[in-house]
Amino acid sequence: MTRRIAVYPGSFDPIHNGHLDIIERCLPSFDELVVAVLQNEQKRPLFSVEERLETIGELVAAWPSVRVESFSGLLVDFMDQLGARIVVRGLRAVSDFETEFQMALMNRRLNPRIETMFMVPKEDYSFLSSRLIKEVFNLGGVLDGLAPPQVLARLAAKLGPREDGR
Ligand code: ADP
Repeated sequence: MTRRIAVYPGSFDPIHNGHLDIIERCLPSFDELVVAVLQNEQKRPLFSVEERLETIGELVAAWPSVRVESFSGLLVDFMDQLGARIVVRGLRAVSDFETEFQMALMNRRLNPRIETMFMVPKEDYSFLSSRLIKEVFNLGGVLDGLAPPQVLARLAAKLGPREDGR
């Protein structure tokens, strides 16, 4: 039987509990899930691709069917190399829909064999974004339960101590 390989692409700068929730929800549906970190310096990422690969690798280590890789260029080309047919994307709110819809149709146009599957996170994470995590961290807000401790430690190492000294 063909292995069901899915790819979950994104910037993951940094990964947070909304992303991890989507990954966990995918586990029963696929034989393999590749978390794919996009190499895109134009987005001026806080964490290097290597740092993101390392953090995500640690966090998904307990799930044998999940691995992490980086890619640049067209997602559909990367998926062809892996033999993957499904793109997984998370939908937080209606505001995500338009760009996600455009991207899904473009990817289908580029490679008609590729399908996009949208996943909805647990409500507790539906407002979360990597941008907010970085902003709130900088301002000293409490992020417990929204990003894993490994991520908070890396933010502290990168951005220095928070305003509340934690
Ligand atoms: P991108 O740069 O592609 O937007 P992100 O790292 O921000 O990358 O997100 C990767 C994927 O995870 C996207 O499909 C995004 O919609 C989804 N995602 C981000 N935050 C959440 C969240 N809180 N809940 C569910 N999905 C999310």
